[in-house]
Amino acid sequence: MGQQTRPVRALIALGGNLPWQDIAPERLLPKVFDALDGEEIRVLARSSLWRTPAWPDPSAPPYVNAAAAIETTLDPDALLSRLHATERAFGRIRGADRNQSRTLDLDIIDFGGQQIDAPDLTLPHPRATSRAFVLLPLQEVAPDWLDPLSGQGIDALILGLPDSDVTACVRIG
Ligand code: ADP
Ligand code: MG
Repeated sequence: MGQQTRPVRALIALGGNLPWQDIAPERLLPKVFDALDGEEIRVLARSSLWRTPAWPDPSAPPYVNAAAAIETTLDPDALLSRLHATERAFGRIRGADRNQSRTLDLDIIDFGGQQIDAPDLTLPHPRATSRAFVLLPLQEVAPDWLDPLSGQGIDALILGLPDSDVTACVRIG
């Protein structure tokens, strides 16, 4: 696993819309925060949980979304591998359909402001700034975050979203 000596602040989006072993998403995500927190990944801040409609198929079960600010000594590829391992540990089965329902999705939204465009990893996450269900939890854990591409702050990014996207996300605790 790739290590770097200096810890870097990264932002992680969490989401899920299927139970795992009878544990509903709103009970699962707090366990995921606990599981992520360790030696190489230190969880600095945990957002509230937000209930949001499934996208692009609103008839799928609604999602519970959250965000974490972390400090990590892993490099970006090693962090992504660790997140994929955590997804699997919480019952994620990766199928052909990218948007299929899942117990757990963990995405890297930002890694110390780095810009990466590799086949398996794009940073910052290319769809983060258009998604209310990413930005609303992120605002709680990283209100100072600036999108490295546009230079826009998180409040401005949220104001730029359609109102209906923002009001569809409900904070549940
Ligand atoms: P999505 O997160 O878009 O719903 P998946 O979780 O199935 O879809 O991820 C598909 C692929 O996206 C992953 O295998 C991963 O290699 C790639 N990927 C690219 N950039 C990122 C990122 N910033 N965070 C997480 N995954 C990423
Ligand atoms: Mg993902």
